[in-house]
Amino acid sequence: MPRPTDLPTPTPRSSSDDQVFWDGLAEDRLLLPRCTSCGSVFWHPRPFCPECSCTRIDWFAATGNGTIYSYSVTHKAPGNWGAHAPYVIAYVELDEGPRVMSNIVDADLDMLEVGLEVQAVFHAGADGGAVLRFTPSPG
Ligand SMILES: [Zn+2]
Repeated sequence: MPRPTDLPTPTPRSSSDDQVFWDGLAEDRLLLPRCTSCGSVFWHPRPFCPECSCTRIDWFAATGNGTIYSYSVTHKAPGNWGAHAPYVIAYVELDEGPRVMSNIVDADLDMLEVGLEVQAVFHAGADGGAVLRFTPSPG
């Protein structure tokens, strides 16, 4: 069950293309789309493979592990994020290949670096949904 957070966690707007992804997050699972023709794993979810345009897409449970590809520490922010600064926005390169943009949470900002191993955490969203975030892997 996704854990509560004090970070702003708006209810995601889902579509038929990504509903499987959001449903997975609500069950603490990171589900990714994979092309059944060429095997490409991609992000964001869409009804066709970005590599070969095949429309036969499977979903599978990813490990939730990845590394920081790039990140930025935000020290000032407007609106309801302002109270949570400094916070981290990052591109995480998943072990399965795709890069996803998210937040790095529960991290010592001084230890963050490109290549740092991270793992998925699932935060309960407002009005029921869940969002994907990452935290440094233990050890
Ligand atoms: Zn493909």
